[in-house]
Amino acid sequence: MARVNCPNCEAKAVVTSREVQSTHASHLYCSCTNSKECGATFRVTLGFDHYMNPPLITTAQMAAALLKNLPREQQLELLDMNQL
Ligand SMILES: [Zn+2]
Repeated sequence: MARVNCPNCEAKAVVTSREVQSTHASHLYCSCTNSKECGATFRVTLGFDHYMNPPLITTAQMAAALLKNLPREQQLELLDMNQL
């Protein structure tokens, strides 16, 4: 799992609040747990980058869209293969 470390002393930090910027990005307000030697508070940006695997629904939608573009005969051929 994700863990935030202090950029100054690299000790574990706790997320004290989160400010949503958009559906794919948030600012995390963090506090260093090394209170004796550091005690810094800082902000981290958390953002979506890219998919390694597209969500299942997207894959199904892509398959359906591709299938629609094929001639009827080829569509039936592919569907028949799935039943084997
Ligand atoms: Zn620190």
